[in-house]
Amino acid sequence: MVEQLRGVAPHGLIDLHTHSTVSDGTESPTDLVAAAAERGISVLALTDHDSTLGWDEARTAARAAGIRLVPGMELSTRLGGRSVHVLAYLFDPDDAALSAETRRIREARQARAQTMVGRLAADFDFGWDDVLDHVAAGATVGRPHIADALVARGHALSREDAFDTLLHPGAGYYEPIYAPSPLEGVRLVRDAGGVPVLAHPATRGIDRVIDKPYLARLVDAGLFGLEIEHRENTPEGKDYLRRVGREFGLVTTGSSDYHGAGKPNLLGENTTEPAVLAAILAESSDEPLG
Ligand code: AMP
Ligand code: ZN
Ligand code: FE
Ligand code: FE
Repeated sequence: MVEQLRGVAPHGLIDLHTHSTVSDGTESPTDLVAAAAERGISVLALTDHDSTLGWDEARTAARAAGIRLVPGMELSTRLGGRSVHVLAYLFDPDDAALSAETRRIREARQARAQTMVGRLAADFDFGWDDVLDHVAAGATVGRPHIADALVARGHALSREDAFDTLLHPGAGYYEPIYAPSPLEGVRLVRDAGGVPVLAHPATRGIDRVIDKPYLARLVDAGLFGLEIEHRENTPEGKDYLRRVGREFGLVTTGSSDYHGAGKPNLLGENTTEPAVLAAILAESSDEPLG
């Protein structure tokens, strides 16, 4: 598969960050791939949260649609009480250490979601069964599914409204998730033959970007790139990241972080340069790909 991908000079767009119903996107991997092809995307990464469950379906759909699939994942990590997402590309989905860790995160997410729903149920006519209506079988559970259930029950207007009100850490219902540190995450991805890229590192502005000493440790551990072109990175944050990326010799990616109807982000609204894609492909180990 890598051979197929290598040397690709795509005529279309390269979007390296999207979600399906395997996590908190609203379209199945098949529908997501079809939507991407329709939008003129020629290389698409599926990066569901903490799961590779959609890879096979997405691969089949990509073959049918005549586009390239880059198998990926958005790994949850935590640093200093804050959530840090690590995009991981082209790793071995059967790697024992990484799959054990993602299973642990998914199980913790499930327990955490139940804790949050329990708190909400004390104040609202609402329960875990409502949430299950919005989670596909085997999917990684997240706040977006709770949001969808709150909307269906009339307790919020939209996912965004739910996040701004009830699901916000300040609202009193929030429970943090278990996740490894970014350093552990980067190491796990590398050890599984994958290529780690820090997702949307400046969504909360320049003051809350990972500090340089810690970034240096991530780079030492094998961090390969920064997702700079992302709608939620602030303009000053992007400028800062470009400077830091040059300093550390990191590649720069751009992507949509599409969640179907779950977010306003549109497929291909930000894209990655073909040369950067080629660098990511060259960096991955061939072995795990079937
Ligand atoms: P969780 O990992 O369960 O805490 O939920 C975080 C996920 O919720 C992220 O993947 C985001 O894509 C999604 N999310 C965060 N804020 C919003 C929002 N305002 N509207 C819709 N989705 C959101
Ligand atoms: Zn998400
Ligand atoms: Fe993210
Ligand atoms: Fe994402």
